[in-house]
Amino acid sequence: MNRYHEIAELIFPEIKITTADLEKQYPPRNLEPEAIVTRFAPSPTGFLHTGSLFTSLVSWRFAKQTEGVFFLRLEDTDQKREIKGSGDKVVEQLIKFGITPDESYVHDGAYGPYIQSERRLIYHTVIKDMIKAGKAYPCFCTHDELNEIRKEQEAKKELPGYYHEYAKCRFLSDDEVIEKLKNKKEFVIRFKSLGMNDEKVILEDGIRGNIEFPKNIQDVVIMKTDGLPTYHFAHVVDDHLMRTTHVTRGEEWMPSAPIHLELFEQLNWTKPVFCHYPVIMKMDGDKRRKLSKRKDEEASVDYFLEKGYPISGFLEYLMTLANSNFEEWRLTNPKADIFEFKLDFLKMSLDGALFDLEKVKSISKEVLGNMNKDDFAQAALDYAQNYNKELYDLIVSDPDYFKEIINIERDQEKPRKDYEKFSDVLPIINFMYDEYFDQLSKEIQFNQRFDQNLLIDLLEEYRDSFTLDVDQETWFNQMKEIAVGRNFAKRAKDYQKTPENYIGHIGEYAEIIRIATCAKTSTPNFYDVLRILGKDKIVARINHTIALLKN
Ligand code: GLU
Repeated sequence: MNRYHEIAELIFPEIKITTADLEKQYPPRNLEPEAIVTRFAPSPTGFLHTGSLFTSLVSWRFAKQTEGVFFLRLEDTDQKREIKGSGDKVVEQLIKFGITPDESYVHDGAYGPYIQSERRLIYHTVIKDMIKAGKAYPCFCTHDELNEIRKEQEAKKELPGYYHEYAKCRFLSDDEVIEKLKNKKEFVIRFKSLGMNDEKVILEDGIRGNIEFPKNIQDVVIMKTDGLPTYHFAHVVDDHLMRTTHVTRGEEWMPSAPIHLELFEQLNWTKPVFCHYPVIMKMDGDKRRKLSKRKDEEASVDYFLEKGYPISGFLEYLMTLANSNFEEWRLTNPKADIFEFKLDFLKMSLDGALFDLEKVKSISKEVLGNMNKDDFAQAALDYAQNYNKELYDLIVSDPDYFKEIINIERDQEKPRKDYEKFSDVLPIINFMYDEYFDQLSKEIQFNQRFDQNLLIDLLEEYRDSFTLDVDQETWFNQMKEIAVGRNFAKRAKDYQKTPENYIGHIGEYAEIIRIATCAKTSTPNFYDVLRILGKDKIVARINHTIALLKN
């Protein structure tokens, strides 16, 4: 047996198959030639970052708009950094945004396992073949030895790293290697780079065009002492065997692309198209910086979910970040499904996409304002179920009543836009529910100019004379008439000109009635509010307020 084979057998005695078997097990996908296969490859190290949601949204759209496949692969090879359960949470959050992978460790699929730590045998099979072919080798260098190498390189002002003559374990004799292995000396596996100084390689980026880099010369670690692969290796093996056509990932990976390109080349595998997405930035004062997990609450998608920004609005906002011409398209297609827009790799921004919370807010208002009452109520219920028990209880106590309330000024040419997010709903509409009205009414304050007896008198009169079985204009005219009868000016202007002639103006009169019936000075359309409350409730509320005034 050739010595490389002997070494490979010593390291991986349990591996009985070869890379060729893997190729058969994971054949090219049966898709149309233009279909794109993309993936989202989160590491389970925390919450879903807004930047990662952006990345997965865009990758998912590229797959969907070409009838390709979007899968999720959990990259859990850095077990020290892993936060238990965070992988599941990320999948859950992604699904909340409607981005459902076609394949994942939850959804399954023919190219799994979709968790890297479960793909050990696959990596070991490929590494075993690489060792046999002299393309990879075990490295026994200790931390101290690596430090020595680094110091020497620093002294000579040479490139740091494990390469060429510095790659000490390349030069071990086969006997030495076999002896160390038999003595159970700890090792990693390194890839034997063929790169030479001053050689160049071109990264053909699907977004950025051709970018020239120095070729990789480092013998990078491909398998760690714990037997798990490094990112560089796992990415190449997985994206090959899972038949990814487009490696869509953040631009922070661009500098390592030469390593990946060399691995693809040495393994004789067709390289996928690399698409390095822009990083999400934000303005901090007058400086641009990365949206940061530590500094910015909006860096976590939880922020938007907990506050109840409408999912569709948030996705729409991310689409504006993805392609510069999306907004123009939106203007001409205001009612279309946002996913009718076809994303284009070449229209992605190259120098960081600027995250603008104000714009998220204004799009959300627009989206919530334009939703019909059924969709709004359903989305509010979905939100409330997960994040707002109080609102949830209100909605389920009488779903139709809730719908009527949130429908105020909705069904019209220019709908009212008072909700920015679902957490705004409760504070805006709570007074429509008696338990909240009772609470709120403890705090009410009428204009000091009107004394208690007058207020009581006015309220009793309104209580006994108002009618709601009329249109809005008639209702308001009636109110005006009653007010004028009590010497309120018909128009605020008249009162301001000669205040001595009146006790107040119509606006003030309406405010008294509003406070007495709603315990608030501002509400959505008052006529609609009163009609939804209905005669009995209004009478009861006015009586309640009169009782409070009398106390
Ligand atoms: N696990 C890597 C990360 O979370 C994935 C990079 C990639 O998409 O290839 O950054």
